[in-house]
Amino acid sequence: MEPGLFVVATPIGNLNDISFRAVEILKSVDFILCEDTRISSRLLKHYSIKNELVSFNAKSEERKTSKIIERIKSGETCALISDAGTPTISDPGVRLINQLLKNKLKVTGIPGPNAAILALSISGIPTDSFVFEGFLPQKKGRQKKLKELSQEKRTIVLYESTYRIEKLLNELNEYMPERLVVVHRELTKIYEETWRGLPKKLTGELPDKNIKGEFVIVIAPKGWTE
Ligand code: SAM
Repeated sequence: MEPGLFVVATPIGNLNDISFRAVEILKSVDFILCEDTRISSRLLKHYSIKNELVSFNAKSEERKTSKIIERIKSGETCALISDAGTPTISDPGVRLINQLLKNKLKVTGIPGPNAAILALSISGIPTDSFVFEGFLPQKKGRQKKLKELSQEKRTIVLYESTYRIEKLLNELNEYMPERLVVVHRELTKIYEETWRGLPKKLTGELPDKNIKGEFVIVIAPKGWTE
């Protein structure tokens, strides 16, 4: 293999959701960058991948980038994975990839799972034009962003954590009460669940306490009706 970085998508829950090529690459590279070595070890063990794992997360990305570039320049191959899904999508790696490209080093993508695209593809809401906002700001700027999104004419895809899902539904009820919303929880996992309806209906339907898991929210474009 030519020296360079492989950006490898890994499962978002179900360990079977990984491509043959992804497994092959993870077995063949000289080392693997991952966010949390404990989480990625489970995946690697499942596929009998015995390889050097290097921790690489939002906090260490800046500090570790030059060392990784040196290793690749010296002829090594490397794979970047995240805790789940496609690296760099609400996950670290953009800075590293930018630096590699600036240094004319090879970057290859190995496609696979992504929670936003999966949720969008099964939401039944127009997919021809959409905006991915990832996580909304937690505090400062959150209300401003919601106000802006209330005028959005494309489908909106958001990520939200367990801690703020109820808050988000209440905010959607306030800022865009007439928009169809689909909430996907724990995609590809045992407790996968979907709720669909206007924000007011959903605030009543989602269990009001101990609602746990990972969430993707898909919101219909302004003015769209089923
Ligand atoms: N890089 C990942 C991807 O490709 O989807 C996203 C990483 S981001 C740090 C984590 C967020 O993605 C979660 O908080 C949740 O909003 C969403 N997510 C990841 N896996 C999910 C799943 N199985 N079901 C629902 N949402 C998920």
